[in-house]
Amino acid sequence: MQSVKSLERYVKIVNREVPARYLISKRIEVNFDEQSDIKELFAIHKNALQKFYATLKKIDSRSLKLNDLKIPKKSFLDLKVAIADKIMESCIFCERRCKINRKAGKLGFCKVGTEWKIFGAHPHFGEESELVPSATIFQAGCTLRCVYCQNAPHSIDPELGVAYKVGDVKNWIERMFDTGMRNINFVGGSPTPYTYHILKVLNLTEKNIAIIWNSNSYYSKETAELLKGVIDVYLLDFRYYNNKCGEKLSMVKNYREVAARNHIQAFGDSELLVRVLVMPGHLDCDAKPILKWLREKLGENLRLNILGQYWPAWKASNYKELNRRLKIEEYKEIMNYAKKLGFKNLV
Ligand code: SF4
Repeated sequence: MQSVKSLERYVKIVNREVPARYLISKRIEVNFDEQSDIKELFAIHKNALQKFYATLKKIDSRSLKLNDLKIPKKSFLDLKVAIADKIMESCIFCERRCKINRKAGKLGFCKVGTEWKIFGAHPHFGEESELVPSATIFQAGCTLRCVYCQNAPHSIDPELGVAYKVGDVKNWIERMFDTGMRNINFVGGSPTPYTYHILKVLNLTEKNIAIIWNSNSYYSKETAELLKGVIDVYLLDFRYYNNKCGEKLSMVKNYREVAARNHIQAFGDSELLVRVLVMPGHLDCDAKPILKWLREKLGENLRLNILGQYWPAWKASNYKELNRRLKIEEYKEIMNYAKKLGFKNLV
């Protein structure tokens, strides 16, 4: 497999040279009481995260092996599951912060309840070359409502997914590992409403396989904390720079600020691959300022995929500027703009 600058650790996991992050989190000992409130649990999480980073450093420098670490009574990953379990009672996994009790049957914007609703799970060959074959789980339910969504209506309606038990997903992950998949790719819809389920299944799994968080970037700062020490590659979309475009096309108010915060967090935590979908009529208000921001904040070596395959899916035909494919000259304009900005690691 070709080495990819900026995804170096991911490549090492694929080559079985280092363990996936979630396996390390399972070996970090943490003492906590499940009855504590969420604030206290996050305070313990903050300290445990530093322990995780120190251990990761030792493992990557080969001064420590994963198997040198005992399996603790309670682990960093157990703590994450306990926090996520509490969030299910007042949901703030995404920035909509509905604060509804999903365990009591209440539904928020995404309409995801307690069941793990999946509308597809299979090897995927359409991702970036370093990611394929990618064992991809398409989860039903989303935190945005993009009028051009290619996977709607399944992506936005949990009722159209099939309920899977965590144990079934664990068995599927292990089968995918055994058949040579390079990673487990949690996508949707959005993986965000399923943060609890994802952490839970990883707590049951033992295979050394890279974990990908494939997201629209609209998750809360609490979810961002829970992902640290678990995610090997953040595969993040940056959709809008102009919040008015986000409001009009995805029913979301503060997209730019949330996406920007999560890109910076992901970049500081682990490895990051960013996707920018270029949409007709949104070159100057979104694509260009997003690229400029990415270059300024995340540097020239950011692994970046500028997508030119937009087509007017789902309800896009109701929006004049979106009711056509992107022209080749528009794509070239954006690519030239990115090259002028100095990006050196374009997909
Ligand atoms: S994940 Fe769903 S229920 Fe939770 S805050 Fe977001 S939209 Fe609301």
